[in-house]
Amino acid sequence: MRLVAAMFKHETNTFSPVPTPLERFNPSFANAARDAYRGTNTPLGGYIAQAEALGAQVSVPVAAEAWPSGPVDATAFETLANAILEAVDRGCEAVLLDLHGAMVGERHDDGEGELLRRIRELRPGIPIAVALDLHTNLTEQMVANSTAIVGYKTYPHVDMRETGEQAGRIVLDMLAGKCRPVMRWGNRPMIPHIMRQATDDEPMRSLIAEARRLETGKVLAATVFAGFPHADIHDAGLSAVAVADGDPAAAEATRDRLLDMAWERREAFVYRGEPLAQALARARAAAEKPGKGPVILLDHCDNCGSGGTQDDMTVIGAVLRSGLADVAAFSVADPQAVAELIAAGVGRRASVSLGGKRDMPSIGVRGKPLAVEGVVRAITDGEFTIRGPMYTGVRVGMGRTAVLDTGTMEIVVTERNHEPWDLGCLRSVGIEPTEKRFVLLKSRVHWRAGYKPIAKAVVDLAGQGVTTSDYAILAFKKLRRPIYPLDATPA
Ligand SMILES: [Zn+2]
Repeated sequence: MRLVAAMFKHETNTFSPVPTPLERFNPSFANAARDAYRGTNTPLGGYIAQAEALGAQVSVPVAAEAWPSGPVDATAFETLANAILEAVDRGCEAVLLDLHGAMVGERHDDGEGELLRRIRELRPGIPIAVALDLHTNLTEQMVANSTAIVGYKTYPHVDMRETGEQAGRIVLDMLAGKCRPVMRWGNRPMIPHIMRQATDDEPMRSLIAEARRLETGKVLAATVFAGFPHADIHDAGLSAVAVADGDPAAAEATRDRLLDMAWERREAFVYRGEPLAQALARARAAAEKPGKGPVILLDHCDNCGSGGTQDDMTVIGAVLRSGLADVAAFSVADPQAVAELIAAGVGRRASVSLGGKRDMPSIGVRGKPLAVEGVVRAITDGEFTIRGPMYTGVRVGMGRTAVLDTGTMEIVVTERNHEPWDLGCLRSVGIEPTEKRFVLLKSRVHWRAGYKPIAKAVVDLAGQGVTTSDYAILAFKKLRRPIYPLDATPA
């Protein structure tokens, strides 16, 4: 048996000023792609293991994932899509795809749907398994052009490999004549807030438990997608999809049960923040309470894991002025500052104009650097292997990385974007997070994968950025309306 397995992932924040050229994907091809992902906790890692266990011949034409950013440039989309299409054209019995589900291209609002449509155009009816992120904005085009869609059931995403294995198993069982998958999907007019989508908390905890409970008998897979709100496309928001064995009614009932539950709980998906000054006072009080570990401070409006520039200095500036001490901050993405800190050298004092290099026209913000002075504590190549539960085994490249110590805050400065979900982000640069009083992270929910077990408390700090938690300042033009909670009375 010949299989094609491939990864092509991007979560597109249509409000982000960060461009998405081919280089941002840092793609690997053919044997290099297979070697990089074999044994990792990713859908592609799951597909490779499944295929090899069956003794199938598996071709991995490409593995490419870029940090979330603005729409994918047309050349990047064509290059990566064509790598997959050419492999399919060489001949295979099925295609196993590791996609995100919220990719917007310069020319296509539904990147995954376009890729799947082209595969089916080339090979009508070919079985296609698709593993998708919990932040998928599902579309009719994706469902119409695939065989089995399964989404992650965790946020932070720690079940990537098993999601791939579940999708792959349905398609491989179908090839073996053991099942006849039918798929049904739908959505509701609601756009859940990202800060309310963690699967440890309500309302997602109950929705995921129900999806798992429904996966019995004829129902091969039940998925609820919380959606990715920072994408101004028609279908952004909550959806559900079910795959059943030869039983459309079972798939429809499963889908409707999940959608009804989500709609009933819509108010619980609304996030309410607090003013920055008030949150800083709460952080100070939290640190004074007994207990071990750092207080986690979340700069959630500038999260590169959702398309943030990762160089907005609003929250870091406020924490520096607040007098909180013994803080480690991860990170400011600023290649120019990294070069200046490297030029100064470890152990030397340096003054840099940090961050604020990018304007954010979609939210009317001009980039504003912060003058910061301190001692350069470390310089590294920014590489480490993830040991925590999310993306376990994947090699990380943050670009050249420096630590600037102001006396009250050790600020990690990186050349590239990287969201801190693994303790390795700090440990790889010589900072022990468990020993800090405060750990400031540019993250929203994924930080929990590595840092929740060591956290004494967590405080949300509302700054600014293109992952703003105030959706009222995002100018949606294509999103279907009315939609809850942006509009008072959705249909
Ligand atoms: Zn996600």
